[in-house]
Amino acid sequence: MTEKSLLFLMERYWPETIDLLRNLIRAHPTYENVGGLEQASLLISSFLERSGISPIEICYKNEEFHDHSLYVRTEDFGTMFSDDKYRRKKNIIAIIDSGKPGSTLILNGHYDVDCVSTPEQWYESQGWSSAKIDGDYLYGRGASDMLGGLCVLLLIMRILQEKKDEWRGRVVITAVCDEEIGGNGTLKTLLWLEKNGILEGEISALIAEPSGRLICRESLGFFHIKLEATRKSMHMGVAQKENNALHDVIQIVKDFPALIEKVCEDMSRLTEQDKIIFNWGIISGGRDAAIPLGHVHLEGAIFLPEALDSQGFQERLLREILLTSGGVVKIEFSSFNFPGALSDTGFIYQNFFLEKVLPTEHQVFPDIFPSPCDARLFKSFGIPVIVYGPGSLAQAHAVDEYISLKELEDYAAHCMESVWRSMHD
Ligand SMILES: [Zn+2]
Repeated sequence: MTEKSLLFLMERYWPETIDLLRNLIRAHPTYENVGGLEQASLLISSFLERSGISPIEICYKNEEFHDHSLYVRTEDFGTMFSDDKYRRKKNIIAIIDSGKPGSTLILNGHYDVDCVSTPEQWYESQGWSSAKIDGDYLYGRGASDMLGGLCVLLLIMRILQEKKDEWRGRVVITAVCDEEIGGNGTLKTLLWLEKNGILEGEISALIAEPSGRLICRESLGFFHIKLEATRKSMHMGVAQKENNALHDVIQIVKDFPALIEKVCEDMSRLTEQDKIIFNWGIISGGRDAAIPLGHVHLEGAIFLPEALDSQGFQERLLREILLTSGGVVKIEFSSFNFPGALSDTGFIYQNFFLEKVLPTEHQVFPDIFPSPCDARLFKSFGIPVIVYGPGSLAQAHAVDEYISLKELEDYAAHCMESVWRSMHD
């Protein structure tokens, strides 16, 4: 089979792949939209069936494995998730066995999409589920993160099924839910694969998250931080700066890069400092514009490379913040956190790296997916994994999310060829 004939097959099934992508976007499978999630899972199953591949539905409830050490306690995220443990969930997987000995490749993608938090900012009303094509761009929530990548993986499955006699080993696709809320969908799938003996032998995995078309062996870890600043407020006529907790919070926000540097220095990990990303996302406090703020609540998230021990980092950061604020600002770390993951180089990495992929304008680090993702779960199961997908994190979860169709097609061609190479000796 030549590269040309692979491309020929890709072209033949491309219109159907784009149709699938548009239908998945229209289903709008967010956590809240239970019907949309069901619809998306059915679309994936029927695409596999039309490809001559039997889909396997893994139906479950989280309560079945919530004691597992890698389980993410979603119920701690807020009242919206209070019944999460008892909800019916579904992952779709499929296995193609060539019948010839060889390694196992897992193609992983999530079919749930992030919620739309600022609908009023979208250029078109309901643009998140429009699947509108305008020039080279296809719009909608999940176009980039990561329905586009998932559809390409499904297309690759179809071609591998059609050319089953021409490669070795076994390929598994795992289309999972719940990635956007912590990754329990992938955890459940890996437990299922392990139980069914699929994780034995040489194995590698690819996650088609929007990596800006970079081939990433590392993904960042994450932790959630809450700050509380408290001051004795008094009548504004006599209040000083010290009577307003907002000033304490402003000081911490201003000093934060220096505090991070101090922590890294303390840990003898100054080289990792540039990889740390942080963001403040929630602030609240006060009721009366004329009264200095007696209490301010601030929440943020910090992304860390694997080389920094998260626990040690948190302990030192806590100490630094207490020291800087003179004990006025208290810190709490919630249970919402994941470690980073730096994967071993499995066969997939070597095969994908044979060809140079041009970095895009959104490249942050050459080898790091600058966000947590399900890669850490594969790593925990001892599976070498790369994150490589179309679209970028700058498009993901964003207003007017889109995917470039040209980019998607280029990605499909490169990914197909690399997978093909991986499944030969
Ligand atoms: Zn994603």
